[in-house]
Amino acid sequence: MFFDWRDAMKRELVIRTADIGGTQCRRADIRGGNLEKYLATGSVNSPDELVDFVCGDLPVNCMGVAISVAGIVENGIVVQSPNISMLNEVNLAYRIERKSRLSAKVYNDMDGGAAGMFALLSNQGIKVRRSLCMTWSTGIGARVVDNGTIVNPGAEMSHFVIDKDPSAPKCGCELRGCVESLIGGISIKEMVIEITKPFIPAGTHPCTFLDQEFDSGKDWAFEVYFHAAKFMAQFLAVVMTTAVFQDVIYKGTFGMSAFSRISLLIKQYMKESLMVGMRGRVDGMRFIPSPDPENDALHGSAALFLKDS
Ligand SMILES: [Zn+2]
Repeated sequence: MFFDWRDAMKRELVIRTADIGGTQCRRADIRGGNLEKYLATGSVNSPDELVDFVCGDLPVNCMGVAISVAGIVENGIVVQSPNISMLNEVNLAYRIERKSRLSAKVYNDMDGGAAGMFALLSNQGIKVRRSLCMTWSTGIGARVVDNGTIVNPGAEMSHFVIDKDPSAPKCGCELRGCVESLIGGISIKEMVIEITKPFIPAGTHPCTFLDQEFDSGKDWAFEVYFHAAKFMAQFLAVVMTTAVFQDVIYKGTFGMSAFSRISLLIKQYMKESLMVGMRGRVDGMRFIPSPDPENDALHGSAALFLKDS
């Protein structure tokens, strides 16, 4: 059955939601599509402490608990979380259910974020087409979302090799020349430092310097953004040709800077990698920023919970 989350909003159902990251945990209640009782804490020291934080001060009319965690999640179990290793192999959904006496669901944070981007835009009355929802920050994560459903939950879309050159940079995933190793925020930052080290003003982030120099027409900054556009286009062309999305919804510090500067260039490069019949789709493709990049995973895990309940 298709679940209409707008109906849940009208009925003002309350869902406890949390976003668990390596350095910060955040929780809130979603009531009628709005965020309430937001609370943040630093990293926690044990799974029990985490469950206590997630289940603290639950509202009496709460219908369930939906959380997102940075890592691989299957059936409520955190299979592997590189930045929160204390959660590895912990059945978090079971522990939360035991503590809260409510139904609990655990999602991967990119799944939560992607579902949240869709839910928030729909919430604003924007007709969201089949979209690639992505984060372009230190790393790159992406999901295809169709009518609120994640088409490829748990995917690792940015870890495939697109540059076979043996000197291509190595990624945390062990590959050399994967998408993230080439144009993830960390690589771009290193590229900027390598090119301009003596010239970056003290206290200025290398990527801010890149934007300033790009906006004042410096060749080296164009070169860096050409590099970013070329490989982002290759990534998007592969996804478009396999998963046929219509728009890109994005968040992430580097994405916020990059898409506003190079989206036309990305489209141009994309067309070069696509068969003629697919190129028209690129012209109609929109780049839409997430309406609430800080909190979309909180909204999204609640939206997924409603769909899955
Ligand atoms: Zn990688």
